[in-house]
Amino acid sequence: MRYLSTRGGVEPVTFSQAVMMGLATDGGLLLPENFPQVDGETLRRWAGLPFTELAVEVMAPYVGTDLDRRSLADLVERSYAGFSHPEVTPVVEVGDRHVLELFHGPTAAFKDVALQFLGNLFEWLLERSGGRLNILGATSGDTGSAAIYGVRGQERIDIFILHPYQRVSPIQERQMTTVLDANVHNIAIEGTFDDGQRIVKELFNDLAFKSEYSLGAVNSINWARILAQVVYYFYSWARVTGGDPERAVVFSVPTGNFGDIFAGYVASRMGLPVRKLILATNRNDILSRFVNTGVYQAREVHHTISPSMDIQISSNFERYLYYLMDRDPAAVRGLMEQMAREGRLEVPPEKQAEVARLFHAEAVSEEETLEQIRRTFEESDYILDPHTAVGVRAARGYPGAICLATAHPAKFGDAVKQAIGVEAPPPPSLQGLMEKETRCERLPAETAAIKEYIKRTLAQRHGQTMEE
Ligand SMILES: *Cc1c(COP(=O)(O)O)cnc(C)c1O
Repeated sequence: MRYLSTRGGVEPVTFSQAVMMGLATDGGLLLPENFPQVDGETLRRWAGLPFTELAVEVMAPYVGTDLDRRSLADLVERSYAGFSHPEVTPVVEVGDRHVLELFHGPTAAFKDVALQFLGNLFEWLLERSGGRLNILGATSGDTGSAAIYGVRGQERIDIFILHPYQRVSPIQERQMTTVLDANVHNIAIEGTFDDGQRIVKELFNDLAFKSEYSLGAVNSINWARILAQVVYYFYSWARVTGGDPERAVVFSVPTGNFGDIFAGYVASRMGLPVRKLILATNRNDILSRFVNTGVYQAREVHHTISPSMDIQISSNFERYLYYLMDRDPAAVRGLMEQMAREGRLEVPPEKQAEVARLFHAEAVSEEETLEQIRRTFEESDYILDPHTAVGVRAARGYPGAICLATAHPAKFGDAVKQAIGVEAPPPPSLQGLMEKETRCERLPAETAAIKEYIKRTLAQRHGQTMEE
């Protein structure tokens, strides 16, 4: 399998090159040149597989010859061995809905599903190439800790994670800053998540810096993350339908960067029977406005009780745009240039209609989110975290929908308590965090300051060995 850029300015690359490159060198995002097709018979067979075996089946054609099947199976096994549930991503019945629990990994959020795999994949690739990698990422909360847990203690990797100072939950902050491994560098920036994302993008676009310091990404722009997330769409479909290829399902996905829901789109393009993808946002509604109007336009970022979705510019949106514009890189370039120039882009009405055929989008308010947590608790004795509640609320017209549960409710204790008067009991991974020692650097939200800090830190840690 070869990978292409949404903007058409990169020679096709292999899977490992795409993983190491992160953002394409022309500023676009990397995508596989085609979607392997899964027929009814295969769907039926896959439905009988445990999560890890299914993961190998789904991933193998995308990985191509870069990893032999045994190595892939081994990576997958190691990545999900640390999950606290034997099914990895179990589906539970909650009232007339199915909840796909994606929070049984080490940081209690769905990003572990992708980042445990990506961490092991990086390590495997670096051992083979003899190289080093410096991971740079911006987080609105959950990505940072999940990425840190994915690579902590690894020899060939340093990780720099930017989070918006005092704009992540206390638990999220602690999950990141209590990891004291020497290769982990937390930076609290004095700004928003979008500032962090902009800084990271600018540093990746600084090609000299990127190559001299071997920068790699863990944000959802990395194709391997999307790929790992495709797996649980197949898995949950099988649990709910028993593997009947005639039965199409509805997924409801709490959305920020369009990564998780894009994985659902990929699954549907591969042949998974998907009737609807519900795109659920909080007040930060750029994506739901796009689905409903065809206009993609950022507004200011609002701080909400579902902070991992407090995003206005969605980094994976361009991937979807590429398919919507019939894989025409010139059209994508044109739209993205328009976006950069005018702060908005618009697709023609027939394209908006196409979007609305597969996606149903809704923006859910704070009151509705809290009300949903309360109602689900009263009716089903099940505690939703605020992100999951956004998706459950948006799916209310779709009984039987599979609602993706993206975080454990104990991670967002304040919102849960506000809704139902009590907090959810923490899983073992979240216990004792507040008492632990922390390490973090606070810096202004300026690209130059971050660049300087990275250079200084790496010089101290590796000195002359940086060029190895
Ligand atoms: C990251 C995150 C989301 C949004 O996922 P995207 O891939 O950015 O759309 C939703 N919920 C939680 C808890 C998250 O951490």
